[in-house]
Amino acid sequence: MDLKAGDVYECPEGHNAKIVWISENEKTIAVKCPYEHFSKVEKVAIQTKSRLPYRNHPTEERKIFTKDMVFLIRI
Ligand SMILES: [Zn+2]
Repeated sequence: MDLKAGDVYECPEGHNAKIVWISENEKTIAVKCPYEHFSKVEKVAIQTKSRLPYRNHPTEERKIFTKDMVFLIRI
């Protein structure tokens, strides 16, 4: 394969990402994707005006997305 840093390569989620690193044996590349990827689910406190202690605040689960993730891909 004839890849070089800066080339466009598909990230694991199918976006157009950019190659930022290629291993010496050219078997592994790192691509950095500017799109958002699902990262984790986090419990977040819902903002209320109550005076309840923090632990008694209702929480909701919110999906956290991360931009500019770097993926290592074997080619
Ligand atoms: Zn992506």
